[in-house]
Amino acid sequence: KQAMLILRAIQAGYGNIRALKGVSLHVNDGEIVTLIGPNGAGKSTTLKTISGIIKPIKGQIIFEKEEIGGQSAEEIVQRGISQVPEGRRVFRTMTVKANLEMGAFIRQDRERVKREIDEYCMRFPVLGQRSNQLAGTLSGGEQQLLAMVRGLMSRPRLLILDEPSMGLAPKLVKEIFEIITGLREEGTTILLIEQNARAALKAADRGYVLETGKVVLQGKSEYLLNHTEVQRAYLGKGYREVWENG
Ligand code: ATP
Repeated sequence: KQAMLILRAIQAGYGNIRALKGVSLHVNDGEIVTLIGPNGAGKSTTLKTISGIIKPIKGQIIFEKEEIGGQSAEEIVQRGISQVPEGRRVFRTMTVKANLEMGAFIRQDRERVKREIDEYCMRFPVLGQRSNQLAGTLSGGEQQLLAMVRGLMSRPRLLILDEPSMGLAPKLVKEIFEIITGLREEGTTILLIEQNARAALKAADRGYVLETGKVVLQGKSEYLLNHTEVQRAYLGKGYREVWENG
């Protein structure tokens, strides 16, 4: 498999705070890769650096064989990287449909965009039935779904998800993960960070463990799920209950 995205020794941060101290990782074509680690480890900063919200201080970001480090967020979206931000950020005072149209703003193929919106509305009836309602009237889980589908409307080569299950009830967490694994089957490449490390590893092919701005462990999901340190630090009983009995 080809590496779609490669980070080489990325350093980045905020003012004097060096949040990433040389992060190296890669995402292959068609994979789901997850970053796990404690609060403040640098997971969100890694995603923001990839999507161009933060500029790397050192290191390289290579997407489809081209260096993209330091490019604007806009340029990076144009190249096919779409980030769904944390916390269901939909346009609350716009309709569901208008939100989906916004997701496709970089595209010129308007007719196709319309067709795809209809397809997504059929596939996810909770969106279809509410396509003319304001997004702010949707439940938390529905807003999260909308945020994800909006992210897909740009037809990204790489979809970046920042805590897609945050604040959702266990049943919805399960649904969100079913959607994520469904996207992989359709060939979407996904980089995911998630509080629910167990669910993330179960959905992912591989994972990286970040601590204080560095990758401290990496491997196939199965390896990480069975790793004693990972189990102790990140796979608490609560998470297991959510995933297996939720
Ligand atoms: P969390 O799960 O808490 O979001 P994280 O692994 O995503 O954790 P980051 O948000 O990437 O961690 O934070 C990495 C470091 O950068 C932390 O020390 C954090 O305090 C700091 N940091 C994050 N955002 C900012 C900001 N806007 N300004 C200054 N420091 C920040």
